[in-house]
Amino acid sequence: MDFSKYGKKIWMDGKLVDPQDANISVMSHVVHYGSGFFEGIKAFKTANGPAIFRLDEHVDRLFYSARVYYYEIPFTKEEIKQAIIDTVKVNEFESCYIRPSIFMGAGWHDIDISEEVPFHVVISTWNLGDITGKEHHLGVTSYRRVSSQMTPMQAKAINNYMNSYLIRHEAHMAGYNEAIALDANGYVSESSGSNIFLVKDKKIITPSPACSILNGITRLSLIQICQDLGFEVEETFITRDFLHLADEVFCAGTATDVKAVNSIDRITVGTGDYPITEKILQTYLEIATGKNEKYQGWLTYVK
Ligand code: PMP
Repeated sequence: MDFSKYGKKIWMDGKLVDPQDANISVMSHVVHYGSGFFEGIKAFKTANGPAIFRLDEHVDRLFYSARVYYYEIPFTKEEIKQAIIDTVKVNEFESCYIRPSIFMGAGWHDIDISEEVPFHVVISTWNLGDITGKEHHLGVTSYRRVSSQMTPMQAKAINNYMNSYLIRHEAHMAGYNEAIALDANGYVSESSGSNIFLVKDKKIITPSPACSILNGITRLSLIQICQDLGFEVEETFITRDFLHLADEVFCAGTATDVKAVNSIDRITVGTGDYPITEKILQTYLEIATGKNEKYQGWLTYVK
């Protein structure tokens, strides 16, 4: 196993350790029951060193995820933010993906946990590589997105990602890059790891948070950016046929940024051009790389 992509150190339970030494027991609760949460955060390259995009919002979501499952993170929000900054700094990445993970350790006797079971907190950073430029062909998957009647969907819980895994795996088996999942009621929900936006007659339309989506931090940022660019934005219930009536469709998320969708179910989206998506992407990147004064409050510089 090559650990070099994770840089020099991983932060684990309060200490920076060598990546190959960041280990847990196979008897950890998380291994048996998938009990954990995570975040996906990005640090962008700027003229003033790496800047972490919307750190406060990501750390707030991490604490929300734990709270809604009755977990208590054994660090304060300030300590976690500082640990994230320290980990990016020590690894000397100009830009990177940041993965805070919280999970249950060894010593359990039941699916429910008792006080003796330790919580582990790990922050790893890695090089995401360049995912721009590739065409994005999506298919609607047969798997429905998990409903919040079953599990809290605003929590970024590990267990939600087995549903994501099936959604993406089925897409790959069908020859697509990614899938769009419908919710339990048949409305457009999201892809396995990003939110969906449609452009129709210069209006931006995106599934309502009631459609089993993760109300993504990129999604919320883009809604504000689109409104600031003068677009009308509607959060609503979208049926599958509207995917094929849209002028443009794009995916949005921390790892994805803003990614134009070329086809859905092998039907070309709109005319195949995506000028509005491109404008939103360029504005988003300008903000994330520190070139837009107005949104400096969204960035935490790592110095
Ligand atoms: N939906 C799912 C299922 C995701 O995993 C992600 C990535 N975290 C998103 C949406 C986008 O969320 P964010 O913009 O906060 O990264």
